[in-house]
Amino acid sequence: MKSRFAPSTTGEAHPGTLLSALLVWLDARARGGRVVLRLEDLDTTRVKKAWGDELVAALAWLGLDWDETVVQSGRNTAHEAALDRLAGAGRLYPCTCSRADRAGGRRAPDGGWAYENTCRGTPLPAGGWREVTANLRTQLDDDRVELVDAGGLDLSQTPARDMGDPIVRRRDGVIAYQLAVVVDDADAGITDVVRGRDIAPSTATQVLLQRLLGYPTPRYRHHFLLLEPSGDKLSKLHRSLPFSRLRATFDGPQLCGLLAHIAGISERATPCTPAELVASFDWARVRRDSVLFQIDA
Ligand SMILES: [Zn+2]
Repeated sequence: MKSRFAPSTTGEAHPGTLLSALLVWLDARARGGRVVLRLEDLDTTRVKKAWGDELVAALAWLGLDWDETVVQSGRNTAHEAALDRLAGAGRLYPCTCSRADRAGGRRAPDGGWAYENTCRGTPLPAGGWREVTANLRTQLDDDRVELVDAGGLDLSQTPARDMGDPIVRRRDGVIAYQLAVVVDDADAGITDVVRGRDIAPSTATQVLLQRLLGYPTPRYRHHFLLLEPSGDKLSKLHRSLPFSRLRATFDGPQLCGLLAHIAGISERATPCTPAELVASFDWARVRRDSVLFQIDA
């Protein structure tokens, strides 16, 4: 069993980052598995090297360790090889549609607008996908994916219709999340993916990409989220409780104990290390519903 925690390095760690890391780590350690830390730093418009370093330090502060660390920007050769294979299979096409073109259309399961596969059939230029300056999309099979995750969450979709063909390389040349995550999980031999429920609407798309590239599909589990007082997902973009503030309020064992209590793993918010939680860790005790996270000012 091999798992991974794969945060993007687009800001400071926040309580949701640390909760997800803790659950991924406990799941792997309780099952005697290995766990990889993958720093997702492909989005050059939003990533800072310092945030990656701070994230690694924050995870160590909480008491987590990793069997391997992978930096996603170092995986460019593998990502390009996957694009070559998709192009070779006739599955890549340039898409010049804008977000505004989709607005007002059909809602996708992730709350955005579905893409109507308008540009399907547009050929690549003679020089191949590397010459494309528009978004590149992958033509998915029109199959329905029947999928229930390990926590019983039904992820079934017909991704090509419900979401639309995914962007796999952005017009600015950045490899898109949906492709990178599939290639990196497969190359690392990941058997189990544990991540937040906010990603769940993407899972069926990722399964179809795995099938196109000949990769196995890992076991999935999507855990509850920590919410902001507004009721929105606790998002890095909001920076409401950045790590700098958490560290000024708690030490590592205090926050570990609090997160374990919120998750339902511990009866009380007694300070503890992640290692102390391994023996009794059981998903049956982990809460299903997302929950507000606040600390006193
Ligand atoms: Zn298009």
